[in-house]
Amino acid sequence: METIRFDVLTLFPRMFESPLSESILQKARNREQVKVIVHNIRDFAHGRHRVVDDTPYGGGGGMVMKPEPVVRAIESIKKNHPSARVILMTPQGSLLDDSHVCRLVQYPHLVLMCGRYEGVDERVRLGFVDEEISIGDYVLTGGELAAMVVIDAVSRQLDGFLGNESAARDDSFSEGLLEYPQYTKPRNFRGLRVPEILISGNHKEIRRWRRKESIRKTWLRRPDLLKKSKLSAEDCKTLDEIEREGRLCKGMA
Ligand code: SAM
Repeated sequence: METIRFDVLTLFPRMFESPLSESILQKARNREQVKVIVHNIRDFAHGRHRVVDDTPYGGGGGMVMKPEPVVRAIESIKKNHPSARVILMTPQGSLLDDSHVCRLVQYPHLVLMCGRYEGVDERVRLGFVDEEISIGDYVLTGGELAAMVVIDAVSRQLDGFLGNESAARDDSFSEGLLEYPQYTKPRNFRGLRVPEILISGNHKEIRRWRRKESIRKTWLRRPDLLKKSKLSAEDCKTLDEIEREGRLCKGMA
């Protein structure tokens, strides 16, 4: 069984309780395919008040996370697991996408460092971190939600995590395309019908329809992905067809 371990460094460990205790992530934890150990950075702060932040040098508003407790927390893990990969969650990191997630799942042990306030003292980044990840071009109040996104997205790439392997293979981005439209019962919902092909029982035609709709969705919504995806000669023909249909629709409107 392919497994992964995450050590999370945070000032708010309770934030992780509920999201990690639901659904398939909980099941994967029960069978020890995914291990998540959450550490409170405050436990690594010294002094009566266990201070973890201080004012920024040079002035300005807000507080900055002090390097000592953060680095002590990282070192406490690295001491026994020197090859663990340390990741700083930061809006300044490289943007997380599907290929990034597929690379991360190759590491058996990730340490996710969650910042708060104005972020973490720059020296942590300079000397104690292997990579930096952002989950999008916006600023969160803390790195915890970003770390949860990484745990969720990376875990579901593990072999056997989903149970049904084909589910992950067909997902959006897995082949550089968005997924085809999905339907379930009833056949007719308030006048909106399931495409006939899906109830035809003709699996070859269903596969062809799904591929075409997957290409169509990507063409309509994320043409940037289409440029990077590896389309077969048949896919290229399908794309030409979709473009022609698109032009026809515009002409009729
Ligand atoms: N002052 C920082 C800046 O402008 O780059 C933002 C600090 S943010 C309020 C506090 C913490 O939230 C960061 O240290 C980081 O750990 C986390 N964070 C915020 N936005 C994030 C994002 N888009 N991706 C990953 N982590 C993020």
